[in-house]
Amino acid sequence: MLVLVLNAGSSSQKSALFDLPSRTSTDPARPVWEGRLEWEGNRQTLTSENFQGKRVQVSAEIPADERSSSVETMLRGLWTGPVAVVASPGEIRAVGHRIVHGGPNLSEPVIITADVKRTIREVFDIAPLHNRAGLEGIELAEKLIPQACQAAVFDTGFHRTLPLESLVYPGPYEWYQHGIRRYGFHGISHAYSARRAAELVGRKPSALKIVTCHLGNGCSLAAVDAGRSVDTTMGFTPLEGLMMGTRAGSIDPGILSHLVRTGSARETELDDILNHRSGLLGISGVSSDMRDVERAAAEGNERAKLAFAIFVHRLQGGIASMAASLGGLDALVFTAGIGENSASVRRSACRGLAFLGVQVDEEKNSSAHPDADISSPDSPVRILVIRAQEDWAIAQASLDLIRSLQPAAL
Ligand code: ADP
Repeated sequence: MLVLVLNAGSSSQKSALFDLPSRTSTDPARPVWEGRLEWEGNRQTLTSENFQGKRVQVSAEIPADERSSSVETMLRGLWTGPVAVVASPGEIRAVGHRIVHGGPNLSEPVIITADVKRTIREVFDIAPLHNRAGLEGIELAEKLIPQACQAAVFDTGFHRTLPLESLVYPGPYEWYQHGIRRYGFHGISHAYSARRAAELVGRKPSALKIVTCHLGNGCSLAAVDAGRSVDTTMGFTPLEGLMMGTRAGSIDPGILSHLVRTGSARETELDDILNHRSGLLGISGVSSDMRDVERAAAEGNERAKLAFAIFVHRLQGGIASMAASLGGLDALVFTAGIGENSASVRRSACRGLAFLGVQVDEEKNSSAHPDADISSPDSPVRILVIRAQEDWAIAQASLDLIRSLQPAAL
């Protein structure tokens, strides 16, 4: 069963085609085709790869308003050109879309209808970049692959179980009544890695208190109690919480009114400062990529060292806060680009968490290939490195939904 996944971000559009077995599986499958479009300013890079390892990469200068035609070119590469894997779009039976923000009304995966599209559009106010890209992906897939059944899976969905004390901001109560509340993001990744962690430690999810650390370009934590999210670091938007590649994470909101009042920044600049000019990039001045920051820090760059230190400091505080929300900790999970690959982030973060029972085996940590257990034999908390499988999880959730609601469509 061929299922296509579209994973729209603010500066990238990723896509993957999976050939899934006809019965539900809990084992992630490798995609048979992957496409990735990345934008930096007007520079665009399109990379496509098929299951035979054949890869093409094209970089070009294009204006921002031509991005959706590039997404179309990427998807047409599924059936035309050097890395094509299907003879025609008609072979693709289902398309699963990652939608970042479901707003107050959408959390469970849904079949896409005109109503669902309207609701996704209504959330543009809260998550303009992400949801607009998600909706463009839906409309493009409807045009190019019209016979496929389409489903949406929401990044906010896993956090629908947050208790009120975690999701209501301590501002005026009216905020909450008007949908200004914490939603949480990266839910597909947190849900998958918590479930996988239970498999790896050989216990039922219902018996475990787990903190999952999704550390990629965007970073967030989730406190998962008996398989349910009870706390998380991102909030109303994906800007709250940890320090990230280019995002500040939580800061004193008084800074914003200070900047505007003193004329140091215009109100219209604030979004750009907090989303694109802060975080690892803003502090180090080197890069938003943790690899570059670590390299510069090792060469003695003081600002890169500071960026790394702040990242770790905030991560430790976040993990301890999540553990407090759980009232204990059985497993600590690292996932996504930094979580899977940076032994030094894991080592430095865990070093300050020994009081919670977190004890890393240094050799296992340095040589970890996910999925791996890097805890020392006597560590009360199991420390796991798990490969993020967001795209597969979206494909599987979409297929399960379509199978249960519209089996005739498959
Ligand atoms: P996204 O959130 O876009 O899906 P990823 O999960 O791919 O991002 O994570 C991207 C980040 O992972 C990069 O910005 C980089 O900082 C980090 N990363 C990847 N490989 C390494 C590595 N070997 N060491 C440290 N950081 C890494």
